[in-house]
Amino acid sequence: MSAAGTPTHCPYCALQCGMVLRPGGTAGVEVTEWPDFPTNRGALCGKGRTAAELLAPAGRLTTPLVRDGRGTPLRPAEWDEALDRVAGALTATAQRHGREAVGVFGGGGLTNEKAYLLGKFARVVLRTPNIDYNGRFCMSSAAAAGNRAFGLDRGLPFPLEDIAWTGCVLLVGSNLAETMPPVQRYFTAQRERGGSLVVIDPRRTATARAATLHLQPQPGTDLALALGLLHLAIAEGYLDEGFVAARTTGFDAVRATAMEHWPERVERITGVPVPLLRTAVKLFAQAPTGMVLTARGAEQHSKGTDTVQAWINLTLALGKAGRALCGYGCLTGQGNGQGGREHGQKADQLPGYRRIDDPDARAHVAAVWGVDPDELPGPGRSAYELLDCLGEPDGVHSLLVLGSNPVVSAPRAAHVEERLRRLGFLAVADVVLSETAELADVVLPSAQWAEETGTTTNLEGRVILRRKAVDPPALVRTDLEIISALADRLGHPGGFPTDPERVFDELRRASAGGPADYAGISYQRIAAEQGVFWPCPSVDHPGTPRPFLDRFATPDGRARFVPVRHRPVAEEPDAEFPLYLTTGRVSAQYQSGAQTRRIASLVEAAPSAFVELHPHLALRLGVDEGAAVQVTSRRGSAVAPARLTDTIRADTVFMPFHWPGAGRANSLTNPVLDPTSRMPEFKVCAVRVEAAG
Ligand code: SF4
Repeated sequence: MSAAGTPTHCPYCALQCGMVLRPGGTAGVEVTEWPDFPTNRGALCGKGRTAAELLAPAGRLTTPLVRDGRGTPLRPAEWDEALDRVAGALTATAQRHGREAVGVFGGGGLTNEKAYLLGKFARVVLRTPNIDYNGRFCMSSAAAAGNRAFGLDRGLPFPLEDIAWTGCVLLVGSNLAETMPPVQRYFTAQRERGGSLVVIDPRRTATARAATLHLQPQPGTDLALALGLLHLAIAEGYLDEGFVAARTTGFDAVRATAMEHWPERVERITGVPVPLLRTAVKLFAQAPTGMVLTARGAEQHSKGTDTVQAWINLTLALGKAGRALCGYGCLTGQGNGQGGREHGQKADQLPGYRRIDDPDARAHVAAVWGVDPDELPGPGRSAYELLDCLGEPDGVHSLLVLGSNPVVSAPRAAHVEERLRRLGFLAVADVVLSETAELADVVLPSAQWAEETGTTTNLEGRVILRRKAVDPPALVRTDLEIISALADRLGHPGGFPTDPERVFDELRRASAGGPADYAGISYQRIAAEQGVFWPCPSVDHPGTPRPFLDRFATPDGRARFVPVRHRPVAEEPDAEFPLYLTTGRVSAQYQSGAQTRRIASLVEAAPSAFVELHPHLALRLGVDEGAAVQVTSRRGSAVAPARLTDTIRADTVFMPFHWPGAGRANSLTNPVLDPTSRMPEFKVCAVRVEAAG
């Protein structure tokens, strides 16, 4: 690493803030600003500022580990022994139970190159359909709705900077102030220019407190809320009939469903007073431009796809899509959540966002991979379904996990943990000994972020380049090297390069002609242009920051309205479980916390789980601030200190999900799935709360 530093990107969330790594600090590497990088302009949150501490050897894996038998401790091993064990176990499982009994579980933090090579490894070497990734738990409902309505899931169909210039933003189920603080600059600028921000969230979060208007619906009722706003928009004459006629199809059926959701009915369902509904729709409709942005609060439901569709329907009906400073967008969460869902580690996809059940897509990708299309497996099990079948007679018996920690992050986590323990064989490649790695038969220490080069695709669809700044510890290997070594041992010595740029060049060919076309993107272009927006089909193509200005990506170029109706959450409160639980994040921790729970300053800022509850509820339960409370759902219990706040509804409690053990929020969550996206209902379930004995 030169004294001038290495420009790269944060290892955590989908904003992928630019930063420059320089020699210095306790880990020998220091995070400094990259003032010119266009998304964050030098700003970083606490996680990004402390990211270099992850590179220090303390607390991370520095050698392979193997277990000699169930019940015996993990012990250090040579790479050859560890890799031989993995290859031998995967082969034995396939021979004994069939290829489908071998599973692969990836992560939304893996680079595009890793996600691509992992998908190819599963389909070409293991020939199993059972590969999926934890990004399924993140943005899959928005992706499904975006594909259905626009013919393309591009996260945000505009650069973040457009937010600063739009007239009104409806922000649904997002607490940006905690999850992506640097992005707030665009919202602040937007309001300074006279724009308005309407936040829809069951909690009065820091983001909601800064808004023009906050609507605080009952958890799980966003779909009804969107339908009610559309009803009012139609009734009050705000419909953009010209746009609907020229750029969309299917509005008549949507009008009929909206008219079934009159304001008083929606007030009864959501708890949001009719006058506030009227104010919200007026702010959005009367603004000359506007955007609707959703995040996990709207999406992580068993009706997440339809909920997002309802917001898209509202956006389209008011003509606020397909033109400058307008549109619907998903605020992707994980670092490479967008790229991770484009290049083949998802059960139903091939690289380039192609469908694995599309014969043309199979033929194209098979030609790039040099295999017969008929040899490629079909669609496999989605993430939760894959975890739920572990160890079952007709399920997965051997699992390879890369960069994911489902023991903490999966719904109904105690059940998933039990399934992982029942597996015939579990191998985990990760940077740290996560709670999932602790259960493994073989643990492979991976290089991370600043120790390797690779691309990610941020929430804007901008493909960016993480550059290697330092060497990994001596006995640590990159995930590409691990995949390549396993492919070698499993009889595929070619086709799995370890050089990330070679992998990316192959990915470009595999994606060419697909919806997420990277063919024209190169490492050189990314460096020179500070990222390139896909689709970018040729080297002389400028990239596509705003894909829907002229036409949508459907066959007829029109956006599709799809009728959707309100339906209750899968688990309504009752006498036994009388409250709603909703889950989410805090600013100092990231996802399952496997990395951030090892950074001292982040632990100091957010040391453990807590249960947020309204003072009225606390009074009724006889619970004081800081007292231990037990939260129980039909799936299990969690115990954590009470945090009293009047920013939450009195019928709802909140828990962050970053911690394992007694405070594990996902011990409680409901794995019921959205029928389209296969997203679990993380955001709402019925619970009972009591003072812990
Ligand atoms: Fe930026 Fe997200 Fe990293 Fe924070 S965690 S510095 S918001 S990329």
